Amino acid sequence: MGHGGRDGGGFGRLGGGWTAARSIAGCGATVRRMAIPELFQTGRPVVSFEFFPPKTDAGYRALFETIEELKPLSPGYVSITMGAGGSTREKTVDLTIEITRKLGLTTMAHLPCTGFRPQQIGSILDQLAAGGVHDVLALRGDPPKDNPDFVIPKDGFQYANQLVAYIARHGGFSIGAAGFPEVHPQAADAATDLVHLKRKVDSGVDFLISQFFFDNAKFFDFVAQARSIGIRVPIIPGIMPIASVAGIRRMAAVNATGFPEELARELDRVDGNEEATYRLGVDWATMQCRELLDRGVPGIHFYTLNRSPASREIHRSLFGG
Ligand SMILES: Cc1cc2nc3c(=O)[nH]c(=O)nc-3n(C[C@H](O)[C@H](O)[C@H](O)COP(=O)(O)OP(=O)(O)OC[C@H]3O[C@@H](n4cnc5c(N)ncnc54)[C@H](O)[C@@H]3O)c2cc1C
Repeated sequence: MGHGGRDGGGFGRLGGGWTAARSIAGCGATVRRMAIPELFQTGRPVVSFEFFPPKTDAGYRALFETIEELKPLSPGYVSITMGAGGSTREKTVDLTIEITRKLGLTTMAHLPCTGFRPQQIGSILDQLAAGGVHDVLALRGDPPKDNPDFVIPKDGFQYANQLVAYIARHGGFSIGAAGFPEVHPQAADAATDLVHLKRKVDSGVDFLISQFFFDNAKFFDFVAQARSIGIRVPIIPGIMPIASVAGIRRMAAVNATGFPEELARELDRVDGNEEATYRLGVDWATMQCRELLDRGVPGIHFYTLNRSPASREIHRSLFGG
């Protein structure tokens, strides 16, 4: 079965599960909504924004303001994370459906698998489908704080490839998955990580979204290596505009993401100055995106941290408007 994006050969899975009914009622007519893999076929870069379910009512209000501010940029889709071990299951499912219905956006629910039994995954998928959501990001997830030893339900899934296979059998969804340009921190080495990635993709993945990175060379290398072992699906770079020096150092340490020397120096310089950090974050991400787009990436996935100004400013520099 062929997969493909702009740089990936023929396009497969058309006529597969995810082309099934996906329509939204609006303006007196029912409009068919494109599945995310179809967006990558249009030849235009697909911009997407990632959000997390807020903890408070004020956080929800702020998030909906953020989405209203980003909506005029016509994102291909937006995605909603789910807490480690599935901790925000209800919130993620409800929020994803609410954004789909109220704002008419294509939404993708993140689905980390280790906290769930297959039956629970099945019922989450049914809930999403009934709410008009037909795209999921299939993940293993990280160990939740209350389960650091990562105890998995007896008949549960240990790795994302098992979840992907389950969703593909279930049908009705396009399936995204994660890729790691700087190698997953728990992988024995880059080659082994790639073999696991290939197995995951072959289980039914339609597109990959990368972990954030600050050195484009690492991403281009990763794509080249993935292609060399026959991974053909679109690979979308994940971009994180830096908002806080301490925050980004912490996240980068967890994910084994490196800072190019110049960026490391700049982080030291702006540390403690919020405005200068914002400027550095926007400028660095804009520079990354410009080169990525010039080299023909199929899209850009922004890790927004539920805020809009940085993504809006970067989008304006790249696409105008
Ligand atoms: C775009 C994006 C969005 C994310 N959203 C969320 C989210 O919403 N919620 C959340 O909890 N986490 C999220 N994460 C984090 C992610 O769940 C973690 O990074 C996790 O550690 C890896 O997930 P994975 O799906 O890539 O795992 P896997 O593909 O299962 O890989 C995990 C590790 O196991 C190895 N491996 C894979 N398959 C096998 C196998 N069959 N046998 C042996 N080893 C194997 C891999 O090499 C890797 O080291 C996200 C990550 C990205 C990049």
